[in-house]
Amino acid sequence: MPKKVIPKKMPAKRTSNKIPQLLRGFKDILPVDQQYWRLVRQAGQDFADGYSFGKISLPILEESNLFVRSIGKDTDIVQKEMFTYNDVSEGSVTLRPEFTASVARAYINHGMFNLPQPVKFYYFGPLFRRDKPQAGRYRQFYQLGYEVIGDTGAIIDAQLIVLAYNLLNQLGLKNFTIQINSIGTPESRKEYKKELVSYYKSKRKMLCENCKKRLLKNPLRLLDCKEASCQPFKGEAPQIVDWLDDESKAHFMKVLEYLDGLDIPYILNPYLVRGLDYYTKTVFEIWPAEKEDGAQGALGGGGRYDGLIETLGGRPTPAAGFSLGVERLIIQLKEQEVKLTNHQAPKIFLAQIGDQAKIKAMKLFEQLRADGIIAAENFTKDGLKNQLEIANNLGVRYVLILGQKEVVDGTILLRDMESGVQEVFDFNKTLQEIKKKLSAN
Ligand code: AMP
Repeated sequence: MPKKVIPKKMPAKRTSNKIPQLLRGFKDILPVDQQYWRLVRQAGQDFADGYSFGKISLPILEESNLFVRSIGKDTDIVQKEMFTYNDVSEGSVTLRPEFTASVARAYINHGMFNLPQPVKFYYFGPLFRRDKPQAGRYRQFYQLGYEVIGDTGAIIDAQLIVLAYNLLNQLGLKNFTIQINSIGTPESRKEYKKELVSYYKSKRKMLCENCKKRLLKNPLRLLDCKEASCQPFKGEAPQIVDWLDDESKAHFMKVLEYLDGLDIPYILNPYLVRGLDYYTKTVFEIWPAEKEDGAQGALGGGGRYDGLIETLGGRPTPAAGFSLGVERLIIQLKEQEVKLTNHQAPKIFLAQIGDQAKIKAMKLFEQLRADGIIAAENFTKDGLKNQLEIANNLGVRYVLILGQKEVVDGTILLRDMESGVQEVFDFNKTLQEIKKKLSAN
């Protein structure tokens, strides 16, 4: 007899007539914020171009197995944060919680080991983690990131850190620190993990509930626990640098040498381990200076993952990369009051009075737009006072005014909102005159 399938209890359907609301941890990005997004996206792309990274766009939905195998089944992400469901035809699928695994999959699927190595990727897009929502921690968030696949050199790790440092500076961010550590190879880590577990076992009773679980499942994460009760034990804990194999140690020294040579400031953090299984050797994180002890404040992080491609069934291929959280960068840009220049802001306002003027103004608007001049307008309004008020609120310097008289005369008025002075021009010379004014400012 085939087993009777008992459907899992489904959550109550949202059938009420209340206004639909955002899901917890999801956000709308409104027009007022888009200039920050544009800035970050543009800087990300400019740096990709400047350092010769090719843009890769990846699907949002992937086989769940991709993430379980790469991130690791005992990690927080896989254990409790993935948005996973059973698709009728594809089986278990997951909204991507990170990019690196997908980049590695794409590298293997498209046989990119046949390309000149290393292959350098840039990405920008949304990720999904069922995290506890709070400031700077969402269930849908965006990352931009850079991955270099196909080279073991310490210079790759260093150059990724240089890129991150320069990118944050270019955005205008100050007061951030780069923390760096090496976690060696899986082999050298085995011995270290034993030491770490035996040290923490003696403190078991005093550990937070999460750390009690970590002791069994993910001991490295004991080191970056943020609970106050677990802090006193860190100081005496064995440090991973003392357990590194010679090759990892030499690699790490080289990374630091390159960073010193390029005057990139960094902090050695022996407790930095990152949360995912695939990391090897170099790991690093970027923190806003005032939040070094904060639980959720890292702006970004990354490191080397020499075993990942092989874990996923590709040939052994070394790799390294990092990503930055876009929302957290924007929070910092706002907190640090970084000034933005909005090149898309309208420079002039086009006002009109009367039906005849409306048609002429609409035509002029199209001409201005085709010429790359952004004009604001509100063609639904009729009164001049009203329109000048709108122009004033927008902070535009010049207002073009077309009234009935101007239509009859074939002229147009140009009002300087700063001085209040108005000039009359031949309508056919509008473009010429407005360009002269704008270039003079
Ligand atoms: P991770 O790979 O988890 O270290 O994430 C890299 C960066 O992505 C972090 O440093 C954050 O800036 C950002 N990030 C990670 N998780 C979230 C989240 N739930 N909400 C917002 N940003 C996040």
